[in-house]
Amino acid sequence: MESAKDPLHGVTLEQILVAMQKRHGWAGLGRRIEVRCFLYDPSIKSALTFLRKTPWARSKLEAWYLRELPRGGAPKAPPAPEPCIISVARTAAELLGVKAGLAPEAAPADGRVLALAPGGVKKLLLYAPDAIGRNFISKQASTFACLDDTGFSRLPLRSVYPPKTPVCFASMFSGLTPHGHGIKQYEKPQLACPTLFDALPAAGLRAGIVAVKDSSMDLIFRGRPVDYYSEPDDAAVTARALALIAEGLHDALVVYHQEYDDVLHAGSPWAEKAMAAAGHHVKSFRELVNAFDTRWAALPRAAAFLPDHGAHVDPATGRGTHGDDIPADMSLFHFWRAGRAG
Ligand SMILES: [Zn+2]
Repeated sequence: MESAKDPLHGVTLEQILVAMQKRHGWAGLGRRIEVRCFLYDPSIKSALTFLRKTPWARSKLEAWYLRELPRGGAPKAPPAPEPCIISVARTAAELLGVKAGLAPEAAPADGRVLALAPGGVKKLLLYAPDAIGRNFISKQASTFACLDDTGFSRLPLRSVYPPKTPVCFASMFSGLTPHGHGIKQYEKPQLACPTLFDALPAAGLRAGIVAVKDSSMDLIFRGRPVDYYSEPDDAAVTARALALIAEGLHDALVVYHQEYDDVLHAGSPWAEKAMAAAGHHVKSFRELVNAFDTRWAALPRAAAFLPDHGAHVDPATGRGTHGDDIPADMSLFHFWRAGRAG
């Protein structure tokens, strides 16, 4: 039964009878619905027994109850909030079979992703390109269609506020809100809270972070027993990640690219250069996934394209920016693919 369509969903006959008896009294009920149980020695118990056995009387009472509800029918359950990037940490951990090591208050895993790999995975490739929002992906459909075409699930979700890179990555890989992990603005301290990069090593898994030198990804997760690779630029990050995939020592690799973000701040998110940069990210990601699929063809595995936030044009400067509580900055797509299929 669908609650949205059945206004009596979740309301028992007893609740209806009690509410109507309080409002109208037994005499009132008996005048409207002429049955003995309302008129002679009435009680909730005996009336309930009668109504359960007498469908026409029950229908009449329910219809009356519904007519008297406030306009708009029964109170509707609020729509479920869109999942948030804080679900990524536990999603990644649970895919790898890791149940402990994150903060107890870390957000639950995203069931949409877990459903893609019911038996979990052994290897994980997480690609995090900077500042590619849902708005951009929707409008640049041809750049991203290859992900849908190669079996990736496109999952809508929202970023955290303020949508700034260190705030977002801290949330994605700790499972905590900015209040929980402590990075609330553009700053890159080493995080003190538990993160995915604590949980995986604690479970005996080897993880690596490959990022552009001095980026948020490079700095805020330092001090963990994971492998750090700081590279001068995106191309060097890709080369390093390809070498690491071929080497096959890691159970989980996180790879960060920043070209699109660099270009949008220097110009506009919609400039030709920016669109080319987004194309580079998709191309690099596919290259990494192909290498990953080849290396781990025999094992259950998952790969994901996980942007941190979106971006918009600042009307004052005409340049790209982000950090506002607006859909252009907050609404995202994450792309996940799991399973043995290549
Ligand atoms: Zn930026």
